[in-house]
Amino acid sequence: MNILFNNIGKTTNYLQHIELLYSDYNLFRKKHFSNQCLSILSPIYPDSKLFLTHSATGALEMIALLMDIEKGDEIIIPSFTFVSSANAFVSRGATPVFADIEPETLNIDLDLVEGLITPQTKAIVAVHYAGHACDLNRLKAICEKHQLFLVEDAAMAFGNTFEGKPLGTIGDFGVISFDITKQISAVQGGLLLVNNPKFRKRAGHIYHIGTNREDFMEGNAPYYEWVDVGSKFQMNEMNAVALYDQLIRYEEILIHRNRISRHYYRELQPLERKGKLILIAEKYIAENYHEFYLLLKNKKEREQLASYLSQNGIEAMFHYIPLHQTLKGHSFSPGKLTNASTISDQLLRLPLHTEMGNEVVEYICNTIKSYWDEK
Ligand SMILES: *Cc1c(COP(=O)(O)O)cnc(C)c1O
Repeated sequence: MNILFNNIGKTTNYLQHIELLYSDYNLFRKKHFSNQCLSILSPIYPDSKLFLTHSATGALEMIALLMDIEKGDEIIIPSFTFVSSANAFVSRGATPVFADIEPETLNIDLDLVEGLITPQTKAIVAVHYAGHACDLNRLKAICEKHQLFLVEDAAMAFGNTFEGKPLGTIGDFGVISFDITKQISAVQGGLLLVNNPKFRKRAGHIYHIGTNREDFMEGNAPYYEWVDVGSKFQMNEMNAVALYDQLIRYEEILIHRNRISRHYYRELQPLERKGKLILIAEKYIAENYHEFYLLLKNKKEREQLASYLSQNGIEAMFHYIPLHQTLKGHSFSPGKLTNASTISDQLLRLPLHTEMGNEVVEYICNTIKSYWDEK
């Protein structure tokens, strides 16, 4: 047995898509597959201006440029997140102010956020952990009251919603990741959603390396030239063709991943009732696509279970070292954030991908059960 933590699902046609791309230079030049991807994504996000980027990290960097982040600005972010959520802003001089997380959602604790706001605060970066929606009504109200930008880091949340609206579309800006580690993948890629209409035009400049190429392409300028800062944030066509291969059947992929989540949930509930572990809250299971995690009693138990699974050919992973505890993050706010630290020690993520079926889920769950039987 060798069960990978994640896998790249492919359609039977993926080589045909790549061959088509290579058959015609114009398809590269005209960004054929990027445009095909956008025509699938636009109906999902009809009110946002969309930019396919080389990564969600790149999309977050675009947001930092759009918000004119400079030295002295503060951004409030959960400590329990990927380094990019902070780095995009810190790279431009901002100070991250880390907030603790709620133990049920693993999202930023909204009871703490207002206490962290200062005159220097520029934005709240809300991470929808594992696609669990933050309370966006409450977040929006806080941001409006204090005149802050709301950034949704929906990197893990393709397919997830809040009150029927896709995550990433409710804040001023949102980002989705199509990294190989996420539910829908371009191997490497991301999506920026510009929801605040004030930023639509400038986002186009920044995306096109600081030029008005968009105006030129729309026939509104005779040529294009340097007009603003920017960088090469675009997704390349090789990644776009990989993304296209997944987007043409994204619903099927999400359904498959969700079916595995439900199966895990059913099989492992008895262990939760016995107090051995804590599962994702039941209300999130209906829309769970990104990951299936367990919370163990403590770090020792997490390490023991992970190595037991590994001995049985099952790859299980943990993340993140809370940013406030890292070498770089420690210098900003060395305070105590109890939930982030505790949960980081307890969390273990199980394999979840489309190349696994029911029998694999059963094998994994039986292995987890036998871990306790043998103890
Ligand atoms: C994966 C992830 C990112 C980064 O996405 P990339 O596409 O790999 O740059 C950012 N934030 C969160 C919460 C993530 O999970």
